[in-house]
Amino acid sequence: MKLSGRSFHLCLMYVGLFAALIVSAILLAACDDAMDESYEKEMALDADLDDSKVDLYVNKNKIWPSTIKVCWEQDGLEKEKGWIKAGLMYSWEAYSSVRFVDFKKCPFMGSPGYYGLRVGIDTSGAGQSYTLGLGNDLNNKSWGVVINSCPEYTTDTGRRLCMASAAAHEFGHALGFAHEQNRPESTCRPCIAGKCMPGETCRNGQCIQGPDGNVTIGTFDKESVMSYCASAHNANGVLSQTDILGATHYYGSAGRLTDSEVFNVDYYLNLYPSLKATFGSDKNRARRHWVVNGIREGKRAHPKIHSTYYLNRYPELAPNIGWGKNLDLNARALFHWMTYGRDEGRIGAP
Ligand SMILES: [Zn+2]
Repeated sequence: MKLSGRSFHLCLMYVGLFAALIVSAILLAACDDAMDESYEKEMALDADLDDSKVDLYVNKNKIWPSTIKVCWEQDGLEKEKGWIKAGLMYSWEAYSSVRFVDFKKCPFMGSPGYYGLRVGIDTSGAGQSYTLGLGNDLNNKSWGVVINSCPEYTTDTGRRLCMASAAAHEFGHALGFAHEQNRPESTCRPCIAGKCMPGETCRNGQCIQGPDGNVTIGTFDKESVMSYCASAHNANGVLSQTDILGATHYYGSAGRLTDSEVFNVDYYLNLYPSLKATFGSDKNRARRHWVVNGIREGKRAHPKIHSTYYLNRYPELAPNIGWGKNLDLNARALFHWMTYGRDEGRIGAP
């Protein structure tokens, strides 16, 4: 690994926080029974995330406002920059109120007035993605977020997925979330003969990276986008349910997938009486249920688009929607509808 000791160490620093946000509440069924269960789990998480307790676990001072400026340290590399932006759109921006904006050339290094993330792309061929801090510690830090250009992939398709998923992971650090595998209960990264990868530390038989987070809400989430133990590298940039829960808690739930083209809260509540009975007139909680549970359960929240219907009607689209191999297909269908399907005159719902 080419990464310098400093940057590597710093990247590792961020490992623990996000894990803490995680509740392992993966709901596979799309029936109403599952809905009740998912609601119970969401309620449990809400209890955990009661603001009076959050201070015990998270340094809220590291949380940005939900709109975060980003600038590029380099000119050019437009294709790669586009992949990074898309990776953010399909992850944190899809489900939470976070919006990364601006994307102009960074001001001269050291300019005191800039408030935002300074992002570089490592094209050295032997680089690595990392951040030089956690949350708004990264403010105006030169090359504070670095995304590897993924030269080990020979096709644009491979590099695109690699860079977009690296962006989801590294910008997760930028949002204040740390690596999942540092959690005390993690067992997925055992030391081998007491040794770990460069930059890691063996502790209690497990390889950890950097300082621990101080959020311990929920249980260990192996498939978090912030976990080194996810089935796919950087989880293919696909947020786990608990990633979404954490993001919505700290940044709000007005994700891109709550756009009026795909989400109507009144329609959602009227279509699912048990949700209405639970949430009443609390539309914020209903919206949060949609981004945390409803989308992945294939629920419907708009008269013109229902993800499961759309995917059944146009099965040829499924392999081509989105980039992440494991990206929730329902979410991809909704993005496809907003971006292409509606304008193409496709039928989104019965
Ligand atoms: Zn990391």
